[in-house]
Amino acid sequence: MRGSSLSLDYTLEPERVVTSDASAYTPLVSSLSSHLTWIEVSLDAIRNNIGRLKALTGVDVMAVVKANAYGHGMLPVARTAVDAGASYCAVARISEGIELRENGITLPVHVMGPSLEGRFKDALEHDLEITLFQPAQVEALRLAAASAGKPARVHLKVETGMNRIGARPEEALSLLQTLSGIPEIDVIGVFTHYACADEGDPTTTDRQEAAYLQFLQQAEASGLRPPLVHAGNSATAVTRSRSRFDMVRAGVSMYGLHPSRDVPLPDGFLPALAWKTQLRHIHTIPAGEGISYGHRYHTRSDERIGVIPVGYGDGWRRTDGNEVLIHGQRVPVVGRVCMDQCMLQLDSVPGAAVGDDVVLLGHQGEDAINAEDVADRWDTINYEVTCGLTTRVPRIYLP
Ligand SMILES: *Cc1c(COP(=O)(O)O)cnc(C)c1O
Repeated sequence: MRGSSLSLDYTLEPERVVTSDASAYTPLVSSLSSHLTWIEVSLDAIRNNIGRLKALTGVDVMAVVKANAYGHGMLPVARTAVDAGASYCAVARISEGIELRENGITLPVHVMGPSLEGRFKDALEHDLEITLFQPAQVEALRLAAASAGKPARVHLKVETGMNRIGARPEEALSLLQTLSGIPEIDVIGVFTHYACADEGDPTTTDRQEAAYLQFLQQAEASGLRPPLVHAGNSATAVTRSRSRFDMVRAGVSMYGLHPSRDVPLPDGFLPALAWKTQLRHIHTIPAGEGISYGHRYHTRSDERIGVIPVGYGDGWRRTDGNEVLIHGQRVPVVGRVCMDQCMLQLDSVPGAAVGDDVVLLGHQGEDAINAEDVADRWDTINYEVTCGLTTRVPRIYLP
């Protein structure tokens, strides 16, 4: 039996693990003794964070679960979001929405990205609300809805400055006008997306917000304002009460991750994810030998080198400067990260033994390595760190 991460509470009520097949559940206890590396996701943290978002914003929360819920596992997160009172789920693609439907999620599901006309029928059959912004797609959608025998529910995307997908305000107004005459298409929502909401300087977001407000005013004046108006991602939800409208689209904040250094989460949010492994081998390597592919690291004296069964195939980047926690202490990864393994320099932890818990992300003892620290090391953002955790690492859900 190893380490500190397993408290008795978890063994009293066996929880569930999701393997790479997200619907295959096995009990927690056997999985913890049978995985070389695993990710623990606290559903309680996610529940807490949705509660915090609702209290903070006072509006409905759309739980953004695209990209396997930012690596946390889409279905358990979506189910938890439903329990915690989210009003909507959001995904990027129709395929993700279908997976939600096939696994019992009955909440409205918004597909925020672009969709292929060839998938409109699938979207309709699964009651997914797609994003519309191209006049050229209107007729295909109308036909798909007519053949499905039910109206298509869409959210119109307005381009205010992200310059990704969306119709510019004048075009969006005329699209609204067109759609108002098409009974097969219900525009139930309108939304935009801010490019710089996670930056300290509000200038760009002010400008986008003003353009969006003006668009909404014009839509209102023409009697075309859809029932649901939304704009805010997590950073916007946290910083801009005026852009919360009817609903916020919360991704990163729901996982307890900070939108950015400039826009940290307020107190009370909890990171949901921890990534662990165990020390699988220790050996003493004499001075002057090379470690791992390319021998990029050479021992300077007799060094105790540990091996953990984690590599870039799991989402642990092949960069220099990685660190992990063992016995509550930070130790460096030395030599190149391999696909499935990497090496640790253990001289500062003489008590380290094979089987000890090693934390790549999360707390151990007094110390913690968070996704933001890893992101800095990898010259990226926390979003990419958790999204990059591959499906071969089993996710274990703590209640
Ligand atoms: C991914 C995404 C979000 C969620 O953003 P967070 O910063 O993770 O809260 C919201 N809206 C759109 C359109 C997105 O693509």
